[in-house]
Parts: sequence; structure tokens; C-alpha cells
Amino acid sequence: MSLEKQLEILIGQRYKKNIRTCSDAQLYDCVLQLTKDQTKKKPVIKGKKKVYYISMEFLMGKLLSNNLINLGIYDELAEILKNNGRDLAVIEEAEPEPSLGNGGLGRLAACFLDSIATLGLAGDGIGLNYHFGLFKQVFRDKLQKAEKDDWIRKNSWLHKTDTTFEVCFGDKKVTSVLYDIDVIGYENGRNKLHLFDLESVDEKLVKSGIDFDKEKIDKNLTLFLYPDDSDEAGNLLRIYQEYFMVSNAAQLIIRELKENKRSLHRMDRYVAIQINDTHPTLVIPELIRILTWEEGFTMEDAVRVVSRTCAYTNHTILAEALEKWPLAYMEKVVPQLVPIIKELNARVAKKYKDPRVQIIDDQKRVHMAHIDIHYGFSVNGVAEIHTEILKNTELNHFYRIYPEKFNNKTNGITFRRWLLSCNRELSALLSDTIGDGFKKDAGQLEKLLKSSEDEKVLNAIEEIKIGKKRELAAYIREKEGIEIDPDSVFDIQIKRLHEYKRQQMNALYIIHKYLEIKGGKKPCRPVTFIFGAKAAPAYVIAQDIIHLLLVLADIVNNDPKVSPYMKVVMVENYNVSYAEKLIPACDISEQISLASKEASGTGNMKFMLNGAVTLGTSDGANVEIHQLVGDGNIYIFGEKSDAVIGHYAKADYVSRDYYKKSPVIKKAVDFIVGKQAMKVGHRENLERLHKELLNKDWFMTLLDLEDYIRVKDRMLSDYEDREKWKRMMLVNIAKAGFFSSDRTIREYNEDIWKLK
Ligand SMILES: *Cc1c(COP(=O)(O)O)cnc(C)c1O
Repeated sequence: MSLEKQLEILIGQRYKKNIRTCSDAQLYDCVLQLTKDQTKKKPVIKGKKKVYYISMEFLMGKLLSNNLINLGIYDELAEILKNNGRDLAVIEEAEPEPSLGNGGLGRLAACFLDSIATLGLAGDGIGLNYHFGLFKQVFRDKLQKAEKDDWIRKNSWLHKTDTTFEVCFGDKKVTSVLYDIDVIGYENGRNKLHLFDLESVDEKLVKSGIDFDKEKIDKNLTLFLYPDDSDEAGNLLRIYQEYFMVSNAAQLIIRELKENKRSLHRMDRYVAIQINDTHPTLVIPELIRILTWEEGFTMEDAVRVVSRTCAYTNHTILAEALEKWPLAYMEKVVPQLVPIIKELNARVAKKYKDPRVQIIDDQKRVHMAHIDIHYGFSVNGVAEIHTEILKNTELNHFYRIYPEKFNNKTNGITFRRWLLSCNRELSALLSDTIGDGFKKDAGQLEKLLKSSEDEKVLNAIEEIKIGKKRELAAYIREKEGIEIDPDSVFDIQIKRLHEYKRQQMNALYIIHKYLEIKGGKKPCRPVTFIFGAKAAPAYVIAQDIIHLLLVLADIVNNDPKVSPYMKVVMVENYNVSYAEKLIPACDISEQISLASKEASGTGNMKFMLNGAVTLGTSDGANVEIHQLVGDGNIYIFGEKSDAVIGHYAKADYVSRDYYKKSPVIKKAVDFIVGKQAMKVGHRENLERLHKELLNKDWFMTLLDLEDYIRVKDRMLSDYEDREKWKRMMLVNIAKAGFFSSDRTIREYNEDIWKLK
């Protein structure tokens, strides 16, 4: 039966209508069902060995478009809808986006699932089904407000299974329910994302905003992703969540091994467990506990086989992000793991005297990463420079013990979502120019270099960019109520709000530019500065930076002398679907973290793939982008990581010195607490931020500000050399193949998982 016929039948049965007459929501509902029916025909990927990717976060984004592409029926369905006067792009808008992740780490997990299935590897994700996700961001009175994000609908990609497990905590026992989402490989079979939920969860616990009783664990455990961890109840809840996830994971993995009649003693032959950051670390003691207490293993045997099964990915060197839980918390939440953790600690203490490698420190805190490194077989960083910093500095004392465990896996992104789906026009041009091979083998994008002098191809790339900028301008007009000029330069910084990512440095540039224009120095072409960022609700300075950006938008956009030359937009509730609209429309990709602090970044890769040019520091994967495209196709500025690490070691960075030395810096910084800003903003937020920049500036904004201004101005002037700029766009696209997550996953498989 044809797809069209199947769809007509569904709409007829469910709504007694047809493709032409049903509503958008009804059409979405039936297209969703049709896609799920098609998915069932795809075989579940099987293999002798299977990887379980355990992660507290999976930032999947909307799934319709991606699934249709991977099933190979996108074009056919789009045509069917078009012939009936409907538009697939409009229908997609009806899908709610689950916010089951914070940012890069969760999005990476989602890209990896896509690539694992696309490469035909047996591999499932394991995580939690948060009913209200992270939070929905709204701006009120130029401040971020967090609201619950209730994304779950009656008919969705979630499939309720009959799998349930019991999970025991120190003071209570709860029951889990397993929901699955199919993960379809591109022209391949399917794997699963397993999302565990709490049977007794109670959505009514959430009163206003994202507030709820943090102590009612048996009702709140899967309400939100990482609730506020600024107090003890929040921290405890997080440990409850982590153990709930890994207890379910361990039970599921062991059940599947037994179903397949595999010997648990040789678990490592059949299973690899990838621990995404330290959050799932407790899976190690939990597996050891089950094997020794329930399966009759000796401690020796259990430790050996679990250590050969588990591998750890480090995502950050920010000290505050490396989890250390008080042993007392463990005793309350998971007392059954405490003797195991103590035993693991004792084994380490017996062999190594260095206090820096102990699992339990002298303040009785449990270092999760230390469990992973001692009792896993692989430790990987996520970009070359990041892995080198881990080996030489941050984890050097571990690297000396286990040099063979350390390896690098530079992050990647799935090109299905970040090219084929979000930029169908560019994808089609590439097919016309270099053939379809790049869709399965991203390295073939390099073939595009042959066209680097071809006017027709260069102009087509530019035309596509202009088209995407027009689409974005229309979307921003509708969503944010702000008019932007598609002929202006689109300068975009979208990522979580964090001081190390330095949105505040970009803000200072905007102030500098504003003052220049006020002073009569008009730019040759208008610039549109676009931001998108959520800030952790308890992160005060991050809230202040959001406030500053909204204040600047107000001042700049409402100044009739300046707004013809520049605009500032802070989009509300930045998420994956917004990213898919922003990235294809970008000219300048802002990747300006303090060198050494951004482990990899993946936003940088998405932008490059879509023909944006990077303005960045020598940090994370920017370094590898730089190596690939060469000096002439990227704009690098700022201190290098060695110098930055030196400043921290010597504690010799004094932001006030930079402020005093440079009138440009001083003027920009003082604008934050000047009359104009105070008039439209809040004194408390602005003064706090100003003080922070002058007295602390832990992430060294002022260190790089002057160089940033200089290089960004050069970049804007280069933009006017259209021939040069178009070639830069082409080279960036052509060299992006390395950053396909298919490459990353191939490396994980060859070096770590060894599935086939
Ligand atoms: C890719 C992505 C990120 C990560 O961005 P970085 O610039 O690498 O920090 C965060 N959020 C969303 C929605 C993304 O798509």
C-alpha cells in the first residue's frame, strides 16, 4: 500500500477527515503514527557484543524530520503533503521538543545514538524520562524565568514497555517503568533509547514555576533534569536520580545477558558500558554489588570483569563540575554501595599513596571520576587539546599510573540532523556538485574543494545563505517581535550561558560598537548580534549576563541613530529546533571561550558545516578546525591555553589592571553601570556584574577583549570582500567531514568498544 493511502486511512480512522481537511495537529498526529509504523519494519540491530551508552542527558530534539530522512521517506512524504496543499515544515512545528539535556553533553549523546545505529552497531542509550525536562525559558522584565516544560503527549515517540524494576534506596523502595524510543539508523536498522521513569511520579507536586518539594523522592524523582543543586536537598535528589538510573541500567543489562545465555563471568565479551561524564559512575559499584551479592562472584572476579566492561568519557576540566559526594550522602541514599565503595577505595589506598588519586578523600568525599579511572578500562577526552590537558595537567597523576587507559575521541555531530535536515538546500547543492557519497561518507565533502574557484558553486552557496537568513529573519520577527535585516552580517553566539564561554565579552564588544556608532563611526554594513542561552537557575552571574544582553537589546534596538547599523537579539528558550534555524543562517560563529576551558564544543562544528566562519580562541575543537581549514579560513584570537593555565598557576591575572590600562575596556565596562543601562535595567544585577568583572573575572574576559575587538573588526571588514568570504565558506564546508559523529563513533568502536 502506498504511503499516501496509509496516511489517508489513518486520518480517516482517527479523525474522519482527509489530508486536505484535517488540522495541523491532527496531521502531525497521523504522520507520527505512520512513521512509527514504518519504523517497526526496520530490523533491531543485533550483534555478539552491544554497547550501552549511559547518560543523564539525551538532548534529542524533534524527531520527525530526522526519522523520515533516516527511513528514506522524507521526500516522498513531503511530496504527498504538497500535492494535498499541506507543508511538512509546518506540520513539524506541532511536535514538542523534549528538553532532556542541558547542552553539548546531552546533544552529543543524541548524535552518538544516531551514528551508532547508522553504522549498524548494536547499541542502546540508557537515561531518564524527565516529565518536565530542564525548563522552559521565558523573559520577564529582562530577566530569565524558568517554567516547567511539559513535553509529554498522549501520542509521542515514547513507547511504554512492560519492563519494570525495583530500586532500593536506604530509606525507601521504588518501582520503575521503562519507556523506549526507537533510534533509526540512516538507511539501516534500529536501536533503542531506554528512558526509565518512576511509577509513582506525581506531576502535581510542581506548584509554580519549577518549584516542588525536593524531599518527596518517591514522587519527584523523574520530574526534572538536575534540579537546583545549590542546597542539600537538591544534591541528595541528584544522587537518588543517578542511582535510580544505574540500578535500572544494571538490571536491564544483566537481564539481557541472561536472556542471551551469556556468562556473566565473561560480561566484557558481550557488553561495553560507556559512562557519559561522571553522572552514571555508580553503575560500577552497583554491578559489583549485584555480582558479589546475587550472582556468587568473589570480589576479585567482580571487580575484574566490571573494570573490563566500563569506559569513562571526561567532558570538562572545570573543577566545580567534577562530582564529589559526601560519604554521608551516600550512606543515606545508597547504603548498600558504601561497603563496595570503601573496598574499592581500600584497594587503591593499598597500592597508591598519592592523596590525589584516592577515591575517598580526607574530608570523606567520594570522587566519582576517580572510581571511573581506577575501575574502568578507558578514559577519553573529547578533543585533542582537552585530552592533552587531562594527561599533562588535570589528571596527570592518573596518567602516570595508567598511560594506556587514556585516549582522545574528538567529538562529532550527526550530519543527518545538522546538514541534511536543517539545510536541505545546501545538502541538495552538495549532491549536485559532488554527488550523494558525502551522506554516508562525510570525508567526501572534500571533493568540494575542486569547486573553490567555480563562480557558479560559490554564488549558489551565498544564495543559500541569504535564503536561510531571510527565513531566520521571518522566524525571529514572529517569535521575538524584532525586525532584523537579512543583508546585515549575522553574528551568532548560541550555547549555555557560562562565564567561561564569555558571552559577557561579546556584550562588551557590542557596547564598544554602540559607542563608536554614537561617536559617528558608522560600519560599512549593519551587523545583527544574535544570542541564545539558558542559564542554570542558581547561577547568579549567568542571570546577570542574560539581563545585560536584554538591556543592550533594548538600548541598541530603540536608538534611532544606531539601530540602522546594528541590532541585538536574545532569542527566548534556545533549544535544538531553534539551533536548526539559527545555524544555517549564520555568517560569524562565535566560539570565544577562555582557552583551556571548553573541552570540545560541538556548536562550532555545526556552524562550520553550514558555511559560517569561526571567530574563536585556540580552545577545544576550534584548534582542530583551525588545523583543517588553515590560517586563511578562520579568525583566531586571544591567549593560548598554556598562557592561561600559567595565569591560574601563578594567580597573576588581575582584571582591574586591564581595565585601568585601556580606555576602550574602561568605557565598555563602565557602560554596564552607566545612566543609560540603569534607566532600562536593574541596578542590583548590573552592579553585581560590574563588580564581578572588576574584582574577580575568574574567566579572564578582559585579558582577551582588545584582541577580540581587533580581530572581529578585521573579520567584519573582510566580509565585504565577497569573493574571499565565499571561498572561506566553501573551505569550511569542505573540511567539516572530520567532525561527523560517524567518524567519532567508528573510533570509539575501534579503540574502546570493539563490537565488530
Ligand atoms: C550543539 C548544541 C549545544 C552545544 O553548543 P556549544 O556551542 O558546543 O556549547 C548546546 N545546545 C544545543 C541546543 C545544541 O544544539
